[in-house]
Amino acid sequence: MSNIISPLSGKAADEGAVAAVPESSPQPQIQNLPAVEKKLGVALVGLSTYSERQLGPALTETAYCRLTGVVSGDREKCERWRLQYNLKDTNLYSYETFDEIKGNRDIDFVYIVLPNALHAEYVIRAANAGKHVICEKPMATNAEDCRRMINACKKARVKLSIGYRLHFDPFNQEMMRLGQNRVLGSIDRVVAIDAINVGKKDQWRLKKDLAGGGALMDVGIYCVQGALYTIGDLPLAVTARFLPKTDQEKFSEVEEGIEWEMEFPEGIKARRETSYNKKLSLLRAETVDGWFELQPAYDYNGLKGKTSEGPITLPSINQQAAQMDDFALCIQNNTQTRVPGEMGLRDLCILEAIYESARNRRRVELNLEEFQHLIEI
Ligand code: NAD
Repeated sequence: MSNIISPLSGKAADEGAVAAVPESSPQPQIQNLPAVEKKLGVALVGLSTYSERQLGPALTETAYCRLTGVVSGDREKCERWRLQYNLKDTNLYSYETFDEIKGNRDIDFVYIVLPNALHAEYVIRAANAGKHVICEKPMATNAEDCRRMINACKKARVKLSIGYRLHFDPFNQEMMRLGQNRVLGSIDRVVAIDAINVGKKDQWRLKKDLAGGGALMDVGIYCVQGALYTIGDLPLAVTARFLPKTDQEKFSEVEEGIEWEMEFPEGIKARRETSYNKKLSLLRAETVDGWFELQPAYDYNGLKGKTSEGPITLPSINQQAAQMDDFALCIQNNTQTRVPGEMGLRDLCILEAIYESARNRRRVELNLEEFQHLIEI
């Protein structure tokens, strides 16, 4: 269909894709998906920084969905969004009126972009309103809430997906291909570090009841994900240690940093670190024949990759647009999302084991058999 907008219209999207290693790298999978007549309507729940800077703009680039509604506690913010995105007056909701979204045919799915501890409540309310849902990472602050969210969505027969944008990013997809196919030989070790400077003291990210935890919950989760999809397997055990706090007051409720080792089948080890007091973004695999890595690995754009055989050259895409378009197509075609609620639950089980290990200073074994069926690691 000629009027379909390319979801790949992000920077450098037209550059040729050249992989340095054998076999052509995967093109972003969204590119080959079928065109549809009608764009699905999306409502963003929480007009947060991520909504403002990434998701709203991405929804002007999506091919299969578009912004049709917003939910916020701030009426003035809603008005600003209404003008900016040409929304109907009747598609602006507060947290109190959110459930009325049920009868709104302009909205096919909602995207929960609230502090972590609120994800469970809003996913369940969205499911009860009969809407498909994307929920931001981490899926919740504990595995039990994840199970409640999955059950509510199953019961309501709506799809549930987690905002794991990196599964749609060509550079991270290349790590999956190189690692899972053992293109450079069997993997000895994976190193992943995701660290950010978290910023000001008085924010929900530093409050245990809203965030669930510190750097691990927020950005360390990408290191867990990176190890799993590079190795292509589930971890057997974790051993973790909290890093010393440099600011006791600021980090009085949550950890500032944590490091941990994950043990995988075939004797593969993954060393990971996450922190709220520096900037570092690395995903690297060392193999019998060489190595491959991304640095930065987890950012929205500007990712860079290289291998022991040369640079990884791939197009940079709008990750969020690709992610939301993929979900829209899953709804349209009634197919399974690659990043379902079960994946969010799996990762919470791993995060909980890491915390348990750090708290009790002992190795914790994992039994993740129930997640073997996920279509993508
Ligand atoms: P933010 O601090 O910018 O915004 C939080 C929003 O929640 C605000 O609009 C605030 O008004 C609203 N809110 C409602 N109830 C609240 C309460 N009780 N306390 C505090 N705020 C409340 O948050 P953010 O950085 O955009 O993060 C939101 C979610 O998105 C988090 O789950 C985060 O992990 C996730 N996120 C994901 C990515 C990604 O790359 N996938 C990036 C950033 C954030």
